[in-house]
Amino acid sequence: MTTISVRAPAKINLHLGVGPVREDGFHPLATVYQAIGMYDDVSVSEAADWSLAVRAHERIDVAEVPTDASNVALRAGRLLAAHHDLDRAASIVIEKAIPVAGGLAGGSADAAATLLALDRLWDLQTSDDDLLALAAELGSDVPFALVGGTAVGTGRGEVVSRVADRGRWWWVVVESDIGLSTPAVYREYDRMAVAADPAVPEALLAALADGDRRALAASVSNDLAAPALALRPDLAQVLAAGAAAGALTGLISGSGPTCLFLCEDQAHAAAVRMTLAEEHERVFAAAAPVAGAHVVEYA
Ligand code: ATP
Repeated sequence: MTTISVRAPAKINLHLGVGPVREDGFHPLATVYQAIGMYDDVSVSEAADWSLAVRAHERIDVAEVPTDASNVALRAGRLLAAHHDLDRAASIVIEKAIPVAGGLAGGSADAAATLLALDRLWDLQTSDDDLLALAAELGSDVPFALVGGTAVGTGRGEVVSRVADRGRWWWVVVESDIGLSTPAVYREYDRMAVAADPAVPEALLAALADGDRRALAASVSNDLAAPALALRPDLAQVLAAGAAAGALTGLISGSGPTCLFLCEDQAHAAAVRMTLAEEHERVFAAAAPVAGAHVVEYA
């Protein structure tokens, strides 16, 4: 029996500009995504009925991950089959290393990985445009998980286009024990903010194109930081600890609660990681940008 495994990365937002809520309930975004070296692997094999299993790294709490039809990986599989008018099913196994509800779009990574894996398993040769359209139906962050690298996201985040990125960036990632609900953070944002039309700052795009670390540190920003901090005031201490440890800048990842710290290089990231690991249990160094969803095994 053929099994195909696809690896898909976590995303961070170097800029997350959020506009006033639209009539369809979504917020318009102007964001800059970057894929970082933290991955979920999704394996698919032919089966008579759909099934899903989640295996997790011991540090990951998968209690909140549904294994029924609401799991976004299963939704992805069914959507791809329906798109091709296929009455086929598959068994899906997710190996999770991206924390759940961490603001790193782990579920979106699983959805993107499933689309690609099943396209290859069933030899469907779905066009890139169709795959991106199916991904956008599944969630705002799913197209970027297919594309990877560094990209601007507009619309509700689902319209992605790659941007020049000459940097080799190192991030220290501090995970939280408890997740933060993305809808709850947006509700808090709506309550707090007078949102303006979002735009991506030119200075950030220039910093990426130049691979200039200091300039990048000076131009990252996140409109969801304030509402995430309002719901989780403890994150202010994490950000302060990162600054004290010598990071170039600190940033909340997406809707949080994961915190990110930009470092000079791999050695600096290792040093910042060591310092933060004295107080925090789950601290990792990750390189960026990395590839989007890609096949890692065909057995
Ligand atoms: P967002 O993309 O909303 O920023 P996030 O990165 O904060 O999300 P995810 O781990 O992607 O968080 O998942 C958010 C919620 O989606 C989970 O709490 C869970 O209930 C649900 N979910 C559905 N399918 C999955 C999946 N394959 N992996 C993780 N969560 C999933």
